[in-house]
Amino acid sequence: MHPMVMVVEDEEALSSLLKYNLEAEGYEVEVYNRGDAAELRLQEIVPDLLLLDWMLPGLSGIELCRRLRMKSETEQLPIIMLTARGEESERVRGLQTGADDFIVKPFSVPELLARIKATLRRANPAATSTILSHGDIELDREKHRVHRNGREVRLGPTEYRLLEFFMSAPGRVFSREQLLNNVWGRENYIDERTVDVHVGRLRRAITRGRETNPVRTVRGAGYSFDYSS
Ligand code: CA
Repeated sequence: MHPMVMVVEDEEALSSLLKYNLEAEGYEVEVYNRGDAAELRLQEIVPDLLLLDWMLPGLSGIELCRRLRMKSETEQLPIIMLTARGEESERVRGLQTGADDFIVKPFSVPELLARIKATLRRANPAATSTILSHGDIELDREKHRVHRNGREVRLGPTEYRLLEFFMSAPGRVFSREQLLNNVWGRENYIDERTVDVHVGRLRRAITRGRETNPVRTVRGAGYSFDYSS
């Protein structure tokens, strides 16, 4: 699973350049050219990082950033704001609004890529590491293998992606809709009950004997990878 970067930028030449370079670096990219369209999308899916232009039609980047920080689903979302030269005096205001970093246009693409990587690493060390491990469960992203207590756990592709997604955000509660969007992809027409079926399979595959079931059902909300419970 590649980290997903959402780009919100109304200058088309710049957004295409960003999309091209980010995809070449292995990121999954979604581009929006209006603040309000991005806000709608962010109610369905939370990317790993948001690249947000300051001046946007529909809803300004600064206002979108402020709104995202007030919602529990996005209060931790890494946000890098892009701004035109001359708006730099607004930098402080941007950071106060909750942006993690601030880049002034025109910027060099390699520098932006380095700042994205650094921001992702700070925000979520798990997103950039090869091996995710919690308790006695270990998932190797390069080899696509899962071990528990030293034994190999065989998982179907969907169960693997589900576990990888859960383990990259332990303790966080995901609704069935969020799981569908993030694990099955965006253009799915799958019933939400499918999620229950695959969570059931994942639990059976990964839990043996008296081992703790690491996937907790949160009533009325969804599921969470919660190793401690
Ligand atoms: Ca703009």
